Amino acid sequence: MELLFEKTVSGRQTSYIPELEVPFYQYEGKYLNEQSLDFPELSELDVSRHYSELERRTFGINQGFYPLGSCTMKYNPRFHEQVASLPGFCDIHPLQSLESVPGAKFIYEKSEELLCKITGMDYMSFQPAAGAQGEFLGILLIKKFHEKKGEGGMRSKILIPDSAHGTNPATAALCGLNVVSVRSTAEGYMDLDHLRELANTEIAGLMLTNPNTLGVFDPNICEITKIVHEAGGLCYYDGANLNPIMNIARPGDMGFDCIHLNLHKTFSTPHGGGGPGAGAVGMKKLLKECYDEVWKVKAFHGHFLVVVRALCYLLTLGEKGIRDSAVQSVLSANYMKKQLEDTFTIKQKGFCMHEFVITLEEEAKNYGFRALDVAKAFIDYQMYPPTMYFPQIIPEALMVEPTETESKETLDYAVEIYKKVYQDLKRDPDSAKDYPKTTPIHRPDEVSAARNPKLRWRKDK
Ligand SMILES: *Cc1c(COP(=O)(O)O)cnc(C)c1O
Repeated sequence: MELLFEKTVSGRQTSYIPELEVPFYQYEGKYLNEQSLDFPELSELDVSRHYSELERRTFGINQGFYPLGSCTMKYNPRFHEQVASLPGFCDIHPLQSLESVPGAKFIYEKSEELLCKITGMDYMSFQPAAGAQGEFLGILLIKKFHEKKGEGGMRSKILIPDSAHGTNPATAALCGLNVVSVRSTAEGYMDLDHLRELANTEIAGLMLTNPNTLGVFDPNICEITKIVHEAGGLCYYDGANLNPIMNIARPGDMGFDCIHLNLHKTFSTPHGGGGPGAGAVGMKKLLKECYDEVWKVKAFHGHFLVVVRALCYLLTLGEKGIRDSAVQSVLSANYMKKQLEDTFTIKQKGFCMHEFVITLEEEAKNYGFRALDVAKAFIDYQMYPPTMYFPQIIPEALMVEPTETESKETLDYAVEIYKKVYQDLKRDPDSAKDYPKTTPIHRPDEVSAARNPKLRWRKDK
């Protein structure tokens, strides 16, 4: 598809501005740009069609099933968008005096109160723009805590399980800590013996998500946080997987000292486009003083309108509704898992939480088709592929998170297609590379796209 810059036709215009009726003022001097800006020249209809076509080619939650594991791609009510676009919220300026925006102050205070109640934390910061930045703030707080005790120098390591999301070790590295990986058991729990071996006076703490990226809730969680605390470390909770435990279990009660929530995953706000998000950071009392010292990680107050949507979500669902949505997300995942178990290999036995992980290791070996091929084939059935090749400890992984917002009919359709694609590929593995067959672009070179991104159009390339 051509870019607007390529569709340009010299002299074509979209201009509804009437002739000037006041004197024309010409700026002078060295600040005047005399070069052409090379903006595309198009009619309004050209532009409108261009964007409609882009929308048509984009797959989002409005087009179909979007079970992207770890991301919680649930449907976000349009009502929240309406509230977030009220002029009283949109048009306020971050430098306005506090007295002039009591409504915004209420939004932050009420959100803090409700989210602290759900997570078992004492305070909440809404500055960070994403989960990853929330982790960054959280680990800075933990570092500050040790520094204030005079133990900053000696606590240079952080424990992270081998099933962790990539942002966890990246955060630790950015904060100047050395990552020490803790093994998982065959059931997907943290290996307690290994943890005991590693927990010493050199650790700043532990970063963990529970349920973890395998969709497993670690039953030893209180023992885990106790071991870390006894070694003098603090416990950081990656809250990206809070969806299945909202108003059922609280990270604060599990022994965590600091958490982030991905408001854009768990509490409304569509996040398929990559932002804006909000990685709200919750902390227990012992870190409040550290927060007052670390203080700024983001300009102004963070992404306010994401917090507005989150509060809408909290207030419209209510305490029971939020618990129900958590329960439903677990039910949806188990409903799919149970039906797929006879076709696909799912190492984790018994119940899962809100997501489960399929492995195609054997199929890749025996038939030659891979997780990537299966994922690409789903696209032809108007379904977004699940998360692929993550968590990294599971080879040829597909990680499925149906969420609470999908109907039984949609889940049944997905199960039927998952099985059909599997049987088709098993029967004819040579066709694996043909998928997807219905998209304008077949298989983009993903490695080059990531390593050599072209983010800007230049006229003379
Ligand atoms: C999404 C995710 C993150 C990072 O959050 P962003 O908002 O994308 O920065 C961290 N951990 C887990 C488990 C996640 O799923």
